Amino acid sequence: MLPFARVTIVGLGLIGSSVARAVMQAMPTVRVTGYDADAGVRETADRLQICHDVADSAGAAVIDADLVILCVPVGAMGAVAAEFAADLPADAIVSDVGSCKAEVARALSAALPGATVIPAHPVAGTERSGPEAGFATLFKHRWCIVTPPEGADAAAVERVSEFWRRLGAEVETMAPEHHDRVLAVTSHLPHLIAYTIVGTASDLEEVTQSEVIKYSAGGFRDFTRIAASDPTMWRDVFLTNREAVLEMLQRFSEDLSHLQRAIRWGDGDALFDLFTRTRAVRRSIVEQGQDDDAPDFGRTHE
Ligand code: NAP
Repeated sequence: MLPFARVTIVGLGLIGSSVARAVMQAMPTVRVTGYDADAGVRETADRLQICHDVADSAGAAVIDADLVILCVPVGAMGAVAAEFAADLPADAIVSDVGSCKAEVARALSAALPGATVIPAHPVAGTERSGPEAGFATLFKHRWCIVTPPEGADAAAVERVSEFWRRLGAEVETMAPEHHDRVLAVTSHLPHLIAYTIVGTASDLEEVTQSEVIKYSAGGFRDFTRIAASDPTMWRDVFLTNREAVLEMLQRFSEDLSHLQRAIRWGDGDALFDLFTRTRAVRRSIVEQGQDDDAPDFGRTHE
């Protein structure tokens, strides 16, 4: 049996439009309603027929939903939930796709007292944004981390988990605070480092912009993909997952200082040992199917 019959997606950007497309494909009998604050996005969603119908307000979008998924930047979650709180059916489940969980859970429960809130985070995405960037297979073979609040209704957790399984994701359950620490190191810190490297390179006065771009295949261009990610989304992630990011950043700075010393004192063994360990991490990622094995990210060299 399908876990839900009427799904509403609030925020029709990369992730929201991908969820809508995936539901239409995997569960064609489920009614999909969308809403976005941006009239241009609503028009595009309508034109591309991303969902069955696009509502003009958050309240109208949720009026008969049995699942509402918030796909807006994490800093906007509480305000969006407050917008539709009065229209939410009593038996609806509210979920989201936000990249940080503890703060979002707090914002949603405060805005929706008494509602069943089961947050989740599909660990899948690209550096693009907007409704045209979405695609139905985005979640296939990717993890979706469900972060139920303490004492959450087990049946509701299972329905949200089954929803994601039907979109092709593998589901894992985690406490929100644990999720935030794990993602701080696997996602948020790498984005911060990429933003820094790309920013530093473009600020270097003795190296011209054209040289930075011309010789980017030396490694720089792989950071630029991550550093091209949506500015609003990532501003909100760092402000929302502040504590965990600052903690991981502190550890990272200490490790960077060790590397700096190793280079200064010509400690080749320290460098070699670290680079051997990191190569093994890459191997494990490929072995666990989280990336493919093609060298140079599969770029063709013709
Ligand atoms: P996106 O492409 O920028 O889409 C977000 C959409 O939400 C935009 O159309 C935006 O409209 C709309 N929006 C903003 N505030 C709103 C509001 N108050 N009410 C209704 N709609 C509103 O961003 P995204 O990449 O899909 O990210 C959405 C969520 O997914 C974020 O919470 C993010 O943390 C999470 N996530 C992202 C990724 C990723 O790789 N991108 C992966 C996993 C999870 P405007 O045009 O006005 O901005």
